[in-house]
Amino acid sequence: MKKAEDFSEWYNEIVERASLTDKRYPVKGMNVWTPYGWKIMRAIDACIREELDATGHDEVCFPLLIPEDQFAKEKEHIKGFDEEVFWVTHAGLTPLDVKLLLRPTSETAMYPIFSLWVRSHADLPMKTYQIVNTFRYETKQTRAFIRVREIHFFESHTCHVDYEDAERQVRQDYEMLSRLARKWCLPYLLLKRTEWDKFPGAVYTVGIDTVLPHGKTLQLGSIHQYRDNFSKPYDIKYEGNDGEHRHVHQTTFGMSERLIGAIVAIHGDDKGLVLPPDVASIQVVVVPVLAKGATDTVSKSARELTSELESAGIRVHIDERDIRPGAKYYDWELKGVPLRLEIGMKDIEKGVVTLVRRHCTEKTLVDRKGIADAIRGVLEEIAADLLADASAAMNANTVTVDSLEDLPDKLIKTGWCGSEECGHRIEDLSERDMIGTPIADEGYKGMCVVCGKPTTTPVFIAKAM
Ligand code: ZN
Repeated sequence: MKKAEDFSEWYNEIVERASLTDKRYPVKGMNVWTPYGWKIMRAIDACIREELDATGHDEVCFPLLIPEDQFAKEKEHIKGFDEEVFWVTHAGLTPLDVKLLLRPTSETAMYPIFSLWVRSHADLPMKTYQIVNTFRYETKQTRAFIRVREIHFFESHTCHVDYEDAERQVRQDYEMLSRLARKWCLPYLLLKRTEWDKFPGAVYTVGIDTVLPHGKTLQLGSIHQYRDNFSKPYDIKYEGNDGEHRHVHQTTFGMSERLIGAIVAIHGDDKGLVLPPDVASIQVVVVPVLAKGATDTVSKSARELTSELESAGIRVHIDERDIRPGAKYYDWELKGVPLRLEIGMKDIEKGVVTLVRRHCTEKTLVDRKGIADAIRGVLEEIAADLLADASAAMNANTVTVDSLEDLPDKLIKTGWCGSEECGHRIEDLSERDMIGTPIADEGYKGMCVVCGKPTTTPVFIAKAM
């Protein structure tokens, strides 16, 4: 299956052929993490933990089950999730007095406890995060990593003295995201969702969206400002310097296993996955090219090379299987290993190693001496190339229009006066969703595509994956 011909089928096929997931588990939308897929997810989680720990967040882990009465405390929130929740109604044979639900997200699990943890202004800001599985009953067609019912999920939850401090947290979230996305080589847009599309209970929601090769957008995560919308019903209060009790202001930032979906979809090609070096469980594969009469020398040299790279902190694997080198190349290309090193008798004689980059299959020679530093440099170059290519592709997949007729299958930017009426009209006429407005002023000057009023606000519309 060719990516350019049928992206959707190509995606479904490649995640299975590369052994990223096993979709044969007998509950729809709940897939099995295979060893290879789970290693990649753990590498992504490691990037998140490193970033969150460095910015003063503490990791926590809350229970999976939430009592119905706690869930129902924030009215908007429960309305938003009503149709997506899985319920636990029995314990053994006994019906439960208070039904329990599997967390679709953890506000209502955490906030009753936050009201006990937060006492005085000295406890603030309180910055926590967890990496857990969440559950949502998806009624649309499921797709590995992108639309599933059991979701591997990262969520940070913070409490602040006031709105301004919560706003500072949102800005820090943007900075963390930009460093993380660079590691994952993923371009993205930060778009403020419309009032009718924001997270239930939020004051505002900023969606983190990327564009896939077939022009549909994929939401990778979101950042929310809650103000005191949750702290009031959950009674999360602190005592200020002046002895007054005030409600905290809260934010959240969440992303999910969709990051893997985006990495597969954006970087992959007809040969298989192409993994960014920071995400790859194997960054470098060493393939000894054995020749008759020299097998021992080549094997020994390949093993020395491998352990040297390993000592330098590079994730390296040596492939000593008794099969043709061509078959090995095929396997590691399918699995998306960013860099392949071939070492044969000729290389050894010349004091070099042959380097093959996965994303462009370019072959180069590098000196055997001082190789670890050279490889680190090449891995950085690969990451920069992947991000540059993906960013160029996203730009090429975005168009600005002043009419909603004959829209291409791309991310569309157009003028909007900001009224809800025109917003819905734009969605109807374009047969697309409004995904939001840029968070920063871009100096846009245009007219609302429906009513013609002059506007400085562009809006993005798209078919969402
Ligand atoms: Zn208008």
